[in-house]
Amino acid sequence: MSESDCIFCKIAAGEIPAEKIHEDDICIAFNDLSPQAPTHILIIPAEHIDSLDKSKSVHKNTLGHLLLTAADIAREKGFADDGYRVVINTNSDGGQTVFHLHVHLLAGRPFVFPPG
Ligand code: AMP
Ligand code: ZN
Repeated sequence: MSESDCIFCKIAAGEIPAEKIHEDDICIAFNDLSPQAPTHILIIPAEHIDSLDKSKSVHKNTLGHLLLTAADIAREKGFADDGYRVVINTNSDGGQTVFHLHVHLLAGRPFVFPPG
Protein backbone atom coordinates (compact mmCIF):
# COMPACT_ATOMS: atom_id res chain seq x y z
CA MET A 1 0.00 0.00 0.00
CA SER A 2 1.39 3.43 -0.90
CA GLU A 3 1.38 6.22 1.62
CA SER A 4 -1.21 8.15 -0.42
CA ASP A 5 -3.63 5.21 0.03
CA CYS A 6 -2.84 4.78 3.71
CA ILE A 7 -5.89 5.23 5.94
CA PHE A 8 -3.81 6.18 8.99
CA CYS A 9 -1.85 8.79 7.00
CA LYS A 10 -5.25 10.24 6.06
CA ILE A 11 -6.29 10.30 9.73
CA ALA A 12 -2.95 11.98 10.61
CA ALA A 13 -3.60 14.59 7.90
CA GLY A 14 -7.18 15.17 9.08
CA GLU A 15 -8.59 13.92 5.76
CA ILE A 16 -10.53 11.11 7.48
CA PRO A 17 -12.30 11.82 10.78
CA ALA A 18 -11.20 10.12 13.98
CA GLU A 19 -11.88 10.64 17.67
CA LYS A 20 -8.47 12.06 18.51
CA ILE A 21 -7.22 11.68 22.08
CA HIS A 22 -3.81 13.26 21.66
CA GLU A 23 -1.68 14.86 18.95
CA ASP A 24 1.89 16.16 18.92
CA ASP A 25 4.72 16.54 16.40
CA ILE A 26 5.57 12.83 16.50
CA CYS A 27 2.33 10.91 17.08
CA ILE A 28 -1.46 10.91 17.01
CA ALA A 29 -3.73 8.87 19.30
CA PHE A 30 -7.37 8.14 18.50
CA ASN A 31 -10.14 5.70 19.43
CA ASP A 32 -10.22 2.44 17.51
CA LEU A 33 -13.28 2.16 15.23
CA SER A 34 -13.91 -1.39 16.38
CA PRO A 35 -13.02 -1.45 20.09
CA GLN A 36 -11.95 -4.77 21.60
CA ALA A 37 -12.10 -3.46 25.17
CA PRO A 38 -13.91 -0.61 27.02
CA THR A 39 -10.89 1.55 26.15
CA HIS A 40 -9.17 0.84 22.83
CA ILE A 41 -6.88 3.59 21.57
CA LEU A 42 -4.45 3.50 18.64
CA ILE A 43 -1.22 5.48 18.78
CA ILE A 44 0.41 6.03 15.40
CA PRO A 45 3.50 7.89 14.22
CA ALA A 46 2.74 11.07 12.25
CA GLU A 47 5.21 9.87 9.62
CA HIS A 48 4.39 6.74 7.64
CA ILE A 49 6.23 3.62 8.82
CA ASP A 50 4.83 0.33 7.45
CA SER A 51 5.29 -1.80 10.53
CA LEU A 52 7.58 -2.67 13.43
CA ASP A 53 9.26 -5.05 11.00
CA LYS A 54 10.12 -2.15 8.68
CA SER A 55 11.29 0.17 11.47
CA LYS A 56 14.92 1.24 11.43
CA SER A 57 17.28 2.68 14.01
CA VAL A 58 16.41 6.16 12.69
CA HIS A 59 12.92 5.56 14.13
CA LYS A 60 14.21 4.88 17.65
CA ASN A 61 12.94 8.17 19.08
CA THR A 62 9.56 7.75 17.40
CA LEU A 63 9.14 4.19 18.70
CA GLY A 64 10.03 5.27 22.23
CA HIS A 65 7.62 8.18 21.97
CA LEU A 66 4.73 5.91 20.96
CA LEU A 67 5.22 3.76 24.08
CA LEU A 68 5.69 6.70 26.44
CA THR A 69 2.57 8.34 25.00
CA ALA A 70 0.63 5.12 25.67
CA ALA A 71 1.81 5.20 29.29
CA ASP A 72 0.94 8.92 29.61
CA ILE A 73 -2.58 8.34 28.26
CA ALA A 74 -3.06 5.39 30.63
CA ARG A 75 -2.14 7.55 33.60
CA GLU A 76 -4.15 10.58 32.40
CA LYS A 77 -7.25 8.46 31.84
CA GLY A 78 -6.85 6.80 35.24
CA PHE A 79 -6.44 3.14 34.30
CA ALA A 80 -2.67 2.80 34.78
CA ASP A 81 -2.93 1.32 38.28
CA ASP A 82 -5.58 -1.24 37.28
CA GLY A 83 -3.46 -2.10 34.25
CA TYR A 84 -3.64 -2.20 30.53
CA ARG A 85 -2.23 -3.97 27.51
CA VAL A 86 -0.08 -2.57 24.72
CA VAL A 87 0.02 -4.55 21.46
CA ILE A 88 1.86 -4.09 18.17
CA ASN A 89 0.50 -6.59 15.65
CA THR A 90 3.15 -7.23 13.01
CA ASN A 91 2.70 -8.80 9.56
CA SER A 92 0.32 -11.63 8.69
CA ASP A 93 0.72 -14.06 11.61
CA GLY A 94 0.79 -11.09 14.00
CA GLY A 95 -2.67 -10.05 12.77
CA GLN A 96 -1.62 -6.72 11.26
CA THR A 97 -4.31 -5.40 8.91
CA VAL A 98 -3.31 -1.73 8.55
CA PHE A 99 0.26 -1.25 7.33
CA HIS A 100 1.01 2.01 9.10
CA LEU A 101 2.71 1.19 12.39
CA HIS A 102 0.36 1.50 15.36
CA VAL A 103 0.30 0.70 19.05
CA HIS A 104 -2.96 -0.67 20.45
CA LEU A 105 -3.67 0.56 23.99
CA LEU A 106 -6.37 -1.63 25.56
CA ALA A 107 -7.89 -1.24 29.03
CA GLY A 108 -11.04 -1.58 31.11
CA ARG A 109 -11.10 -5.36 31.47
CA PRO A 110 -8.63 -8.13 32.36
CA PHE A 111 -6.67 -9.65 29.47
CA VAL A 112 -5.54 -13.25 29.21
CA PHE A 113 -2.06 -14.34 28.22
CA PRO A 114 -1.05 -15.76 25.87
CA PRO A 115 -3.45 -13.98 23.52
CA GLY A 116 -5.31 -16.00 20.90
P1 AMP B 1 -4.23 -4.17 13.20
O1 AMP B 1 -5.17 -5.32 12.93
O2 AMP B 1 -3.30 -4.41 14.34
O3 AMP B 1 -3.54 -3.74 11.93
O4 AMP B 1 -5.15 -3.00 13.71
C1 AMP B 1 -5.82 -2.12 12.86
C2 AMP B 1 -6.86 -1.45 13.71
O5 AMP B 1 -7.29 -0.29 13.04
C3 AMP B 1 -8.10 -2.30 13.97
O6 AMP B 1 -8.28 -2.47 15.37
C4 AMP B 1 -9.24 -1.48 13.33
O7 AMP B 1 -10.43 -1.55 14.07
C5 AMP B 1 -8.64 -0.08 13.34
N1 AMP B 1 -9.15 0.84 12.32
C6 AMP B 1 -9.23 0.64 10.99
N2 AMP B 1 -9.71 1.73 10.38
C7 AMP B 1 -9.91 2.66 11.34
C8 AMP B 1 -10.40 4.00 11.34
N3 AMP B 1 -10.78 4.62 10.21
N4 AMP B 1 -10.49 4.65 12.53
C9 AMP B 1 -10.12 4.04 13.67
N5 AMP B 1 -9.65 2.78 13.74
C10 AMP B 1 -9.56 2.10 12.59
ZN1 ZN C 1 0.51 5.77 6.60
